[in-house]
Amino acid sequence: MKYLLLFAVLAVVWWVWKKRQRQSERPAPRPDPKVENMLVCAHCGVHFPEGDGVRDEGEDYCCAAHRSAARPGSR
Ligand SMILES: [Zn+2]
Repeated sequence: MKYLLLFAVLAVVWWVWKKRQRQSERPAPRPDPKVENMLVCAHCGVHFPEGDGVRDEGEDYCCAAHRSAARPGSR
């Protein structure tokens, strides 16, 4: 019975050691830099990444052409 308890303790220690070793091997997961906020074009309704669009007075457009199409006055 004593050996069974010793074996259980050793198993737990081995499991914790193995788990810790696996954690140190892998670096902490970083957020994917490719994931961008998606916006909807106020003119055509297409979804586009925030970096690709044009922003004008609180409205987002997929391109400059749709920005000027939706707002003919401002150019
Ligand atoms: Zn558009």
